Amino acid sequence: MSTTLAALPEEYLPRDTADVVRTVRDSRPQPLTVRGGDHSSEQLDDEPAPPDRRIVMSLRRMNRVQAVDADARLVRVQAGARLSDIDRTLAAHGLGLPIVGDHREITAGGFAAVGGLSAASHRYGMFSDNVVALEYVDPEGRFGTCGRTHHADRFRRILGGAGRTGIITALTLQAIEVDKDHTWLTSDAHRFLDFDTFVEHSHAEITRPGDALLQVGRWVDTAPLRVSRPVGTGNIQLGTVRFGQWSSLHPTTATPSLRARRELGARARKSLGAIASAAGGRAGMPVRNAAAGALMFAPKVLTLRDAEYLADTVISSSERGPAYRVAVFAPMSSYSTVFHRLHDLFADHRERSGAITVISAMTYGVRSPDLHESAGEDHGFITFTCRLRPTGTYSGRSGAPELVRDITSGIDDICRSERARRYHTPD
Ligand SMILES: Cc1cc2nc3c(=O)[nH]c(=O)nc-3n(C[C@H](O)[C@H](O)[C@H](O)COP(=O)(O)OP(=O)(O)OC[C@H]3O[C@@H](n4cnc5c(N)ncnc54)[C@H](O)[C@@H]3O)c2cc1C
Repeated sequence: MSTTLAALPEEYLPRDTADVVRTVRDSRPQPLTVRGGDHSSEQLDDEPAPPDRRIVMSLRRMNRVQAVDADARLVRVQAGARLSDIDRTLAAHGLGLPIVGDHREITAGGFAAVGGLSAASHRYGMFSDNVVALEYVDPEGRFGTCGRTHHADRFRRILGGAGRTGIITALTLQAIEVDKDHTWLTSDAHRFLDFDTFVEHSHAEITRPGDALLQVGRWVDTAPLRVSRPVGTGNIQLGTVRFGQWSSLHPTTATPSLRARRELGARARKSLGAIASAAGGRAGMPVRNAAAGALMFAPKVLTLRDAEYLADTVISSSERGPAYRVAVFAPMSSYSTVFHRLHDLFADHRERSGAITVISAMTYGVRSPDLHESAGEDHGFITFTCRLRPTGTYSGRSGAPELVRDITSGIDDICRSERARRYHTPD
């Protein structure tokens, strides 16, 4: 039985679409916050947000995989179904989801509501590109259906609408033929000390990925290291640590020795994750950083399923703290310029304000029919995460810091002049 609204619960857990309709109607005009796996709140590792007084509706109990049409390669699910569970069900039919998030708790509705990208986006676009039809409840509490071929405008508004344009209650998803547990991948990694060469290489790999099933480029650039002078006063500047890696994962044939290496790699990552999770406080920082670093160096051989959830093994243990994040879709004709300009923007702000410590970037290709239609070309996805000193110029989410305003307007300028688009955060 579902919770009733009369008691104004902190979290409302509908069982079916009728429950959702009732909740939306009863709660009006008070706005509702919708949640799937609530994973996106973990991404916002700024200072804690003030308590949300709005009614929260979580769809995690509407989690059934309702029907698989193996011939048409379609699956119909309730919005709260976890992508990892949908994928497991599809596997019994020789099928799988083309795009999954990197954590097992992510739900179909939550991922569709933000668009959803992965290291397979250079082949399959966004998760939302693979949604064929959906059922929803609009902000007035009316039930409706829409899809690629009916009410297409409404369909686009709800996909990527982060719950503001309608609550998704069920989805029909396009699957692909794949055996994720027996598709073996080998990682082809290139390392760089020079940012220009890294960007050039990323551009070439995104443009010509060959048979790579997954691809990702990562760049890390620390603030200049300063140490106290052994004699006298002041500091010695030791320079910055700058390095990057591009990884393409190609299909390979599993030999007994590859299988053994995969076992070893999987065990090592699991142990690292466990050790890092247990290493709390400042003392545990090096261990947690090592765990985050392990993500940059994907193991040499692994299955497609392992690769998709690689981040899940260790990322929750990675370093946290205030950060500024931005993600953009850059048309390939201006990809390199956008990448350089964003990097320069953050590096300049770091130099001037001293408020930014580590600048890191992640990138891969996105072949999204919807994005292609609007820009006439394919895109590269570029995200930057800048770690912020918790004190000084930056005073947290509630402080509306000048630094963040400056950076945001700089990013908007870059996007306008280079025809890039921001991948917006839902809140
Ligand atoms: C802006 C943003 C973009 C992200 N992009 C990616 C990505 O490309 N790849 C990746 O691996 N991870 C990404 N993440 C991480 C994110 O945690 C997950 O991708 C995913 O959205 C979380 O799924 P969830 O089920 O936990 O949804 P939640 O975290 O609960 O919700 C995510 C958003 O979707 C809305 N929402 C949830 N369920 C529904 C529903 N049924 N109907 C309508 N709206 C709903 C919520 O209101 C919220 O705005 C992103 C996070 C953010 C904040």
